[in-house]
Amino acid sequence: MTMRLRQLEMTLQGLVGFVHPRPALEQYSTPAPLAARLLFLAHGQGDLEGRTVLDLGSGTGVLACGAALLGAARVTGVDIDPDPLTVARENATRLGVEVEWIEGEVSDLPTPVRDQVFDTVVMNPPFGAQVRHADRPFVNAALAHGRTVYGIFNAGTLPFLAAYIGERGECTDAIAATLVLPRTMRHHTRDRVEVPVECVRIRSRVA
Ligand code: SAH
Repeated sequence: MTMRLRQLEMTLQGLVGFVHPRPALEQYSTPAPLAARLLFLAHGQGDLEGRTVLDLGSGTGVLACGAALLGAARVTGVDIDPDPLTVARENATRLGVEVEWIEGEVSDLPTPVRDQVFDTVVMNPPFGAQVRHADRPFVNAALAHGRTVYGIFNAGTLPFLAAYIGERGECTDAIAATLVLPRTMRHHTRDRVEVPVECVRIRSRVA
């Protein structure tokens, strides 16, 4: 039986987030309402149930675990930082879902991911707030390893994203959403930040 949106949101809400978030890696867990939106966009298009799914920059595992809960056949999460991977592993265990967690850098993916193509990639990549164009290696890896890609990007990025992707793929859907961030890092000056974002679906032509 498939989960409803609200049910998924509540389940993801209970997961553990970053213990010591590293600003340079733009580490923040996707808030449950936004994660659930992205995942249901994918689910509604038939891109999760029974599919193989790769979460690039999986962090504490919100998207990967959510994909597993929505019936993905096989889920893999990759992150450069072993600390959130430990949290992700515990989150998955607590939910009773199976995810393969791999430590690795998106621009130089380790085996076996390096040689694999997945039905679906989900990702909430760094927006490039700390390092300019930090999202580009994510877009490149997603297009190379996923037939269909779902990503969260800054609102207004779509034309630039489409230009950057070029002939490698096509942005087929974009829904507007809000990323509500609690104050988790020292350089944040306000208690709560609302960032307008877009959940974008991309069909790869190169995977
Ligand atoms: N996908 C998670 C985390 C988003 S934060 C969620 O939705 O909650 C972005 C994540 O990307 C962080 O966990 C960070 O460690 C990871 N990351 C940043 N640069 C990376 C890189 N070059 N390769 C792999 N992971 C990276």
